[in-house]
Amino acid sequence: MIFLKTAEEIELLRESNLLVGKTLGELAKHIHPGISTLKLDRIAEEFIRDHGAEPGFLGYNDFPNTLCVSVNDEVVHGMPSADRILKEGDVISIDCGTLKNGFYGDSAYTFEVGEVGAELKKLLETTKEALYKGIGKAVAGLRVGDIAYAVQNHCEANGYTVVRELVGHGVGRKMHEEPQVPNYGKRGQGMKLQEGMVIAIEPMINMGKRHVYWDKDGWTVRTRDKMPSAHFEHTVAVGKREADILSSFEYVEEVLRGTN
Ligand code: MG
Ligand code: MG
Repeated sequence: MIFLKTAEEIELLRESNLLVGKTLGELAKHIHPGISTLKLDRIAEEFIRDHGAEPGFLGYNDFPNTLCVSVNDEVVHGMPSADRILKEGDVISIDCGTLKNGFYGDSAYTFEVGEVGAELKKLLETTKEALYKGIGKAVAGLRVGDIAYAVQNHCEANGYTVVRELVGHGVGRKMHEEPQVPNYGKRGQGMKLQEGMVIAIEPMINMGKRHVYWDKDGWTVRTRDKMPSAHFEHTVAVGKREADILSSFEYVEEVLRGTN
């Protein structure tokens, strides 16, 4: 069942999602070679609690951490660890959730660690572009398949592949609501979008083949061919003419521009 949100509920969702954006911005200051992924997790948890919210992922299906941290060939749902130290040239996708006033925030960004090669930069850039192509279709009257096609088409036109086992989703009083929002599909197909729908659009894009597998830890999803993967996610409200992006990369990008 689809839970359409009122204008007031959308403002509460914006608050939760902006806090995710601010948390990612805080993390951007700390992402450098030598830091452990567990340290990043602790920074995020403290930051979220200091802002009057709860980590959205902690305890979700018994997930033990605040962040999903997925390095290089890890696609999503990587678990923070004291032993996982970031190295120059890595890419790390950080997926973060919050729960505030009964509503969830959910957003992800893939960061470069130190100096990263041109091929990886292009993967990240293309995945982020694909996210915005998808958001461009989050308009009332269009369909979920229009979002899916926009994401898939942009990535495949650039020679990348789309992970199919994991999808975007509705966001609200639950982290994962209907509808599912795949990153591949056909235009004009799937559920019709309407105002009041709030959805997370989250392309997971591979440099090599699209196939993935679940690590023995039961969480971490990895590419089968060990090639790198990128993940960007925004939570958006479907709009009459255009989507209203509730999460934000502004805080991250401010830090990355060095103007903080
Ligand atoms: Mg997420
Ligand atoms: Mg999500």
